[in-house]
Amino acid sequence: MKYRRCGKSGLHLPEISLGLWHNFGGVDKYETGRETVLSAFDAGLTHFDLANNYGPPPGSAEITFGRILKDNLLSYRDEIIVSTKAGYTMWPGPYGDWGSRKYLFASLDASLKRMGLDYVDIFYHHRPDPETPIEETMTALADIVRQGKALYAGISNYNAEQSAQAISVLRSLGVPCLIHQAKYSMLNRWTEEGLLDVLEKEGSGCICFSPLAQGLLTDRYLNGVIPEGSRASKGASLKSSSITPELLKKLNALNDAAKEGGRTLASLAIQWILRDKRNTSVLIGASSSVQLKENLSALSYAPLSAEELEKIEKILQI
Ligand code: NDP
Repeated sequence: MKYRRCGKSGLHLPEISLGLWHNFGGVDKYETGRETVLSAFDAGLTHFDLANNYGPPPGSAEITFGRILKDNLLSYRDEIIVSTKAGYTMWPGPYGDWGSRKYLFASLDASLKRMGLDYVDIFYHHRPDPETPIEETMTALADIVRQGKALYAGISNYNAEQSAQAISVLRSLGVPCLIHQAKYSMLNRWTEEGLLDVLEKEGSGCICFSPLAQGLLTDRYLNGVIPEGSRASKGASLKSSSITPELLKKLNALNDAAKEGGRTLASLAIQWILRDKRNTSVLIGASSSVQLKENLSALSYAPLSAEELEKIEKILQI
């Protein structure tokens, strides 16, 4: 594993981190998730990303992760970075959603209980709240850090302008914004239009979620067939209708480019994100340890050459 400094902080994150959004819920097989997490840690992947609502049912991914920690990893707590978040709907009523101080404190306490931890390393506000003053949400994050319930504060899904504001409020409270968690892949490049400049200027890191576009940037769907059990077959966060003939053409062209360099498409997608040093870590998902290992192999290839990057750029412009 290789590690990158997160912005201008003292914290290093692995170039590939593992997220538990899918595949670790109460509906999933515990042994498969456990094997994936343990293989990841054995490979030096030290950062595991959660949120209050990951499951299904919501909360169950934190319960699964807590069980894995208890069964195998708690003695390595000081070698592991755990993050969790609050910001999306978690429980009924006005206090289980968005960005109030009430919600953030209650949610983190519940997350810690589910995972059996005294603190998380990073606590994120999961999405901007158009109604709550940003000062309230950021003060809650800063106080959570001061109380030691989280070591660092982060934000997710904030646009460039909202990020600049949040970072400035946090700084005024004496707590730096460690990191921004943003969607980014060869199929979604919004962070290039301002956000990365803000984060670089402010000294915050960036961790890129859904780097494989939920599996599209792998060999899973290249022939247009939706495999049984795949994320697209479940039709929730990835719709099979999004796999259009135009998209398949692009994915196959990228796959050909990957093969020319002796890589898999997933490895290419990961290496392409790491070409920019401002991207601290690539936050993958995996439904098995086999997928995880394939994705980790991205780090064993030589970095993409200027010629390869140019070729990819042309394909992405189609
Ligand atoms: P990816 O884009 O990496 O997609 C992961 C999925 O792709 C896997 O579950 C698997 O799906 C498929 N896959 C992965 N590797 C391979 C492979 N080598 N070959 C074939 N298929 C593969 O990331 P996610 O969308 O899962 O997001 C990653 C993490 O990012 C989340 O767990 C979460 O921590 C974070 N996140 C944060 C959000 C936020 O708002 N802050 C929102 C979304 C995610 P399959 O089931 O088909 O096998």
